[in-house]
Amino acid sequence: MLSVTFLGTSAARPTVERNVSALALEREGETLLFECGEGTQRQMMRYGVSFALSQIFFTHFHADHFLGVIGLIRTLGLQGREEAMRLYGPMGAKRVLTQAISLGVERVPFEVEVTEVKAGDVLQAVGSGPREAYEILVFETEHGGGSVGYALREAERAGRFDPERARAAGVPEGPFWGKLQRGEGVTLADGRVVSPDGIVGPKRPGRLVVLTGDTRPCAAVVDAAQGADLLIHEATFSEEERDRAKETGHSTAKEAAQVALAARARRLVLSHVSARYSMSADELVKEAREVFKETSVAKDGMVVDVPFSEPEAS
Ligand SMILES: [Zn+2]
Ligand SMILES: [Zn+2]
Repeated sequence: MLSVTFLGTSAARPTVERNVSALALEREGETLLFECGEGTQRQMMRYGVSFALSQIFFTHFHADHFLGVIGLIRTLGLQGREEAMRLYGPMGAKRVLTQAISLGVERVPFEVEVTEVKAGDVLQAVGSGPREAYEILVFETEHGGGSVGYALREAERAGRFDPERARAAGVPEGPFWGKLQRGEGVTLADGRVVSPDGIVGPKRPGRLVVLTGDTRPCAAVVDAAQGADLLIHEATFSEEERDRAKETGHSTAKEAAQVALAARARRLVLSHVSARYSMSADELVKEAREVFKETSVAKDGMVVDVPFSEPEAS
């Protein structure tokens, strides 16, 4: 299971329908938070996102992307949390986040660890179990200096197991099948050794989810998003506001679509929508679909499931 819940999809300031930036990525029972705009904790309650998370990633430190961490950390403290919280962000993260979480008079009763990241860093998943099965790549974005985006890349999966071929090779159903599936050879009762070649197909790619945060369309995003199963790209404006997008370090919906096309992404979701657009933001979707068909625009509370490009069943 891999899904993304949009907690805030408005640019710069909240509106009645949209809160400021935040997104929860849930994978195999683990929750990762990307951005934490003001009011994110309430959006998490509203849309059923777990507070049992231990990592928050920030793309840059414009106020609409991080002010919510102040309140969220307090609430976690009130809940009696003891486990450490890890915060990641580009240069300046230590100063900004350390200040933010020390505001007020309460003491935070758990450790908060701030890590500064830069383009090219590969963050290995923390902990054990399913967390080992992916890494997070940090890439450069273009938003007036020092901003980054994040790509979650899953490890390759085992190839597809062909039960017919296993039977044909005389391997009885049972533990031997499991061994073959894991890529190991098996020795049958009659002494014959059967290798997984020809019974288990080639390794299959894991999923790739890419989040740009605020950015102009740029080559670094195209590179990071090559073949992405899901690209979440900001689209603050429509083409009518093209100049304004350029001046303010943002993208138009069409520009986001061009990035998705160049990256051969499977699906594009636009977010960080200016308050000037309606709830449905039809004009943004229409403009982007002319370039990249598999486009939708995020709404607060929207959940996007990310399936494998090659389904599990044979
Ligand atoms: Zn922003
Ligand atoms: Zn910004």
